Amino acid sequence: MAIWGENWVELSKRMVREQIAARGISNSKVLDALTKVPRHLFVSDDLQFMAYDDCPLPIGYDQTISQPYMVARMTELLDPKPGEKILEIGTGSGYQAAILAYLGAEVFSIERIEPLAERARRNLKRVGLKASIFLADGKLGLPEKAPFDAIIVTAASAKVSKAWEKQLKGNGRILLPLHLHPGVERLLLRVYKREKIEEKWYDYCRFVPLLSGLEKLG
Ligand code: SAH
Repeated sequence: MAIWGENWVELSKRMVREQIAARGISNSKVLDALTKVPRHLFVSDDLQFMAYDDCPLPIGYDQTISQPYMVARMTELLDPKPGEKILEIGTGSGYQAAILAYLGAEVFSIERIEPLAERARRNLKRVGLKASIFLADGKLGLPEKAPFDAIIVTAASAKVSKAWEKQLKGNGRILLPLHLHPGVERLLLRVYKREKIEEKWYDYCRFVPLLSGLEKLG
């Protein structure tokens, strides 16, 4: 079922009010981005009717587009500033990349599954937002485009990759769902100050795992 015309505007406003603002996210730029970026264009046609619901959705290849609240929460914690260079690990549908681009960041995003990377490029183009999508193993970061102001990982990782740390600017930050135990992941924000690393823990969450290498398809 396709969402006709401007119907989605009401759905996205309600999503932001009931799922995001209601759970305590108040950053008006984040709320605006989640309202204005058409999330239904990042899922397949047959799931568009659920695009503004309070859940992750399948995007094929056993992967998911994250729940809207989780995208908003991670965006709020990352706090991207216009012009900042941001690297995302785990492009998926391209929706998180679109939100960061909407907020004015220069976005680079890595995906290991080729058809997802291609579809994400198309999705971003369709909504008129710019992010550079790379087909690669995100565990290695993106040395050719480093250094970054911030890195956001949208798949669960058991550790913070040394490659990511090396590719950060001074005072750079890394946000990821850290895998602590089977079935237990928690958002960790690290800020790399000159004299020390500041660590803060946030929501418990569930993400698909960060895997190694490129996906070999049929
Ligand atoms: N941010 C996405 C959702 C991420 S789902 C969105 O907004 O839709 C996690 C994605 O990470 C999946 O597409 C998965 O294929 C990808 N992924 C997992 N391990 C990876 C790796 N090592 N490098 C790059 N992408 C990876």
